[in-house]
Amino acid sequence: MSQSNTSPAVSIEQLCHHYGQRKALIDVSFDIPTGTFLALLGPNGAGKTTLFSLLTRLLRPSSGSIRVFGADLARSPGAALARMGVVFQQPTLDLDLTLRQNLAYHGAIQGLSPKQVKRRSQAELERFGLWARCDERVRDLNGGHRRRVEIARALLHEPDLLLLDEASAGLDLESRTHLYQHVRNLCRDEGKTVLWTTHLVEELDANELAVLLRRGRVKGQGELSALAAAQGHGDANALVLSLSEPAP
Ligand code: ATP
Repeated sequence: MSQSNTSPAVSIEQLCHHYGQRKALIDVSFDIPTGTFLALLGPNGAGKTTLFSLLTRLLRPSSGSIRVFGADLARSPGAALARMGVVFQQPTLDLDLTLRQNLAYHGAIQGLSPKQVKRRSQAELERFGLWARCDERVRDLNGGHRRRVEIARALLHEPDLLLLDEASAGLDLESRTHLYQHVRNLCRDEGKTVLWTTHLVEELDANELAVLLRRGRVKGQGELSALAAAQGHGDANALVLSLSEPAP
């Protein structure tokens, strides 16, 4: 279960990452309050995937720290990672396995018993309106439904923190909206903490909490509409467009 709302689910401090000479992240610091939905917004090349890779420990930072529910990711990776469910940018379902088989495979890796896998698979697929299709091959689902299965899979071990890297990329507007609403409901109804990485501001509500990333640096954090107003833009779309413009 989530800890008290006073301690952040994720605390990132002065995080830097270099690929050789290229600085991908520079002194990035922000918290994700427990039980909130936070959008990480930035244009291509801003450093979103790099940050996501550091959070999921695919990469090690050049300097700085990440704490997940108080556990230092570098010193106690097992404790930190056990609290996370992850949906990567590139789909990772096995297209020739059924929905149920994909979840069972993942559940076994997570150390769940067959009984737990069965119970949790049904609960998550029902949540996403896909239980009736549990014995179909993933190949036969549309893109939006495949993404829902990936989120169901990420939630199988009941993590408190869900990380999604451009989960809506490549989907049509209707599928994107549904996906966003499903994930939004996880925060509202179950107190999950969500990091939603995207470059598509139009899928977010104006009152959404966001961290703006540009060229590896945090360019603002807070409510989207307030950020837009504070930086002299009419709305969040104009704000995000300004992030894509060349640096002066
Ligand atoms: P996109 O939306 O295009 O995926 P992003 O915001 O996720 O962009 P990153 O992929 O994290 O941004 O890239 C940040 C910077 O680091 C970019 O300048 C990119 O070219 C560079 N970069 C990313 N991966 C590598 C790598 N493996 N080697 C060298 N440079 C890299």
